[in-house]
Amino acid sequence: MYTTLKEVTRKAEELNYTVGAFNAHNLEMLPDMIRAAKEEGAPIIIQTSVDTAKYIGHENLVAVCKSMATKEMVDVVLHLDHARDFDDIKEAIDKGYTSVMFDGSHLPFKENIMKTCAVVEYAHKHGVSVEGELGTIGGTEEGIHVDDDKKVYTNPKDAVEFVRATRVDALAIAIGTNHGQYKSKTEVNIPLLKEIKAVVDVPLVIHGGTGVKEKDIHELIDNGIRKFNVGTELLVAWTKTAKETFAETKENKSLRHNIIPCNKAVKEIVKHKIEIFMNKSGHLNKVI
Ligand SMILES: [Zn+2]
Repeated sequence: MYTTLKEVTRKAEELNYTVGAFNAHNLEMLPDMIRAAKEEGAPIIIQTSVDTAKYIGHENLVAVCKSMATKEMVDVVLHLDHARDFDDIKEAIDKGYTSVMFDGSHLPFKENIMKTCAVVEYAHKHGVSVEGELGTIGGTEEGIHVDDDKKVYTNPKDAVEFVRATRVDALAIAIGTNHGQYKSKTEVNIPLLKEIKAVVDVPLVIHGGTGVKEKDIHELIDNGIRKFNVGTELLVAWTKTAKETFAETKENKSLRHNIIPCNKAVKEIVKHKIEIFMNKSGHLNKVI
């Protein structure tokens, strides 16, 4: 079913798992991402940046997600990641996305609340879910870099006020993760997550999931993380495989010989992550 973030995280809360939110960087990799979820019997959140949505075309993304959700009988959410501009959000909603993120984390607290409220009002009127963000996630995403000394952890008291005032459906929190991190791993601040979870009753979201140690994932799930973003790992795997396959094959060979292995590499990562996210017993022992 083509569905919303609110719906998939509600089920995840009931059964204590987290839903993988995977960034699609091109249209090629998208079908295999959804097939991976089907094979694991799990829901999936496909997310795109504003620029990727414009590159592929919102309508094309909506069409593929909708048709595959129906044909493959998988719960698929199409989510706009890190939008900062109301017009970009409105366009995604009007063209059929079922979930959007308004990232006002760089704004003063009151302004973040005010602008998030406007997004929630428009989105909810259209049956679309909203993710807000409080605190700053490190690293670089879509060319926006946050220096280590500018990183601000999410304040639990602010989180209570933010969720109450905005009525967001999910909250992205800053507990030490970084965008774009894949060579090293992050020390996530679990005590802070516990503090936030104790006072906030919406599903919580982890960004920069590629940099999270796999052995930490179950503790994050047990403390309310219901959406888990993975982007960089997919991008790196697709690009690495593409470099190899394109280098090896003749120029007049069908492109699919080069591209199918790239999509398969992405599919394997999505399946592997989903197995951990769905709390499948015994799996964690293998990855420590
Ligand atoms: Zn992010």
